Amino acid sequence: MDPLKDVADCRDLEFLRQNGARADFPLLQNEDLVFLDSGASAQKPQVVLDALTDFYRTGYANIHRGVYRLSQQATELYEGARGKIQRFLGAAESSEIVFVRGATEGLNLLAHSFVRPRVQPGDEILITQMEHHSNIVPWQMLGQETGAVLKYVPLTGTGELDLAALPELLTDRTRVLAVTHVSNALGTINPVAEIIRLAREKGVPVIVDGAQAVPHLAVDVQALDCDFYVFSGHKLYGPTGIGAVYGKAEHWRAMPPWQGGGDMILSVTMEQTTYAEPPACFEAGTPDIAGAIGLGAAIDYVQGLGLANITAYEQELLAAGTEILGAVPGLRVIGTAADKAAVFSFVLEGVHPHDVGTFLDGDNIAVRTGHHCAQPIMDYFGIPATTRASLGVYNTAADLEALAESLLRIRKFFRV
Ligand code: PLP
Repeated sequence: MDPLKDVADCRDLEFLRQNGARADFPLLQNEDLVFLDSGASAQKPQVVLDALTDFYRTGYANIHRGVYRLSQQATELYEGARGKIQRFLGAAESSEIVFVRGATEGLNLLAHSFVRPRVQPGDEILITQMEHHSNIVPWQMLGQETGAVLKYVPLTGTGELDLAALPELLTDRTRVLAVTHVSNALGTINPVAEIIRLAREKGVPVIVDGAQAVPHLAVDVQALDCDFYVFSGHKLYGPTGIGAVYGKAEHWRAMPPWQGGGDMILSVTMEQTTYAEPPACFEAGTPDIAGAIGLGAAIDYVQGLGLANITAYEQELLAAGTEILGAVPGLRVIGTAADKAAVFSFVLEGVHPHDVGTFLDGDNIAVRTGHHCAQPIMDYFGIPATTRASLGVYNTAADLEALAESLLRIRKFFRV
């Protein structure tokens, strides 16, 4: 019997309940560190580090163009990673997956190649007040360039989208709806299936920003029936510099490329270029080959834990943390949606979030403070910033207790 297989078989909800998956993460072997900033970027398990170093040490070559074996093997690994993403997202074909640097680049690609050719002055681009800046700024830039108007689905006091406003905001001038699946600043899980259904009724294509969703929930792009789904590898326990965009094949085929260069062409003369088929025509130049392979390893890793187990475990942490932090006087959680990921964005009465973050760092607790690249949310709540604890598979309730204890000391220190 393979002993490693036994370990793999033990990776269920009970396994996570014992001590999270902390033992898988070399950086977290420093036992004093309480890492609560996975929403910004997640730590990397050994298997991802191994995939990166193995590739560089034993399998490295450029892809797609070499006739020699090493290059062909590298191509297989890179394209294999594309297949892993296809299955991870439930896409019909691996050619529907385009590698990008991350969610930000994916959204810019879509603004440029999918939406730009569709908009005329006065047309509308619909987003929400809950978006990360990466799903706001590209649309503002496009609006300035084309005369298209940006509209927002408003928030409610619990940090949910006011979906009652959606049908009226979807007009016959709406050319696209771009919405986040999970809010980075609030943790809110949006009912994207319902949102997509409403948009479909009006014939409006939908882009889903899944950057904060894929580490926490199983996603099935065909069941959702979204037109595009974007995410970043580094929040999914994978490397930085790599992410992916899922898009329906019919869209990719109709879209113009956005960057020109090597590897995206069929032929080039001095006069003109014939482009390769998707996805190649959207991946100009040498891509982050190792990053893609590392992302494939990260997907294997989370699938080994099981997305359903991860969701269930993190929901337990959310419930535990809500109770633990609820006992800290003067702490107000911003974002109390009924459906939430394990994110605690909060303000502590009388202490600026940056002071909270600095004090917590003194206790070796890593959290994010600031506006979390979501300033319209802060404007809605009338606050400049929050302190955010965002959890991952390696966290435990003990981390949240350490956070609460430290917050109680901060209150004493600041005499609030
Ligand atoms: N969308 C959301 C909801 C995010 O939280 C982030 C990053 O925090 C992004 C998009 C942008 O991701 P990246 O910086 O990896 O491109």
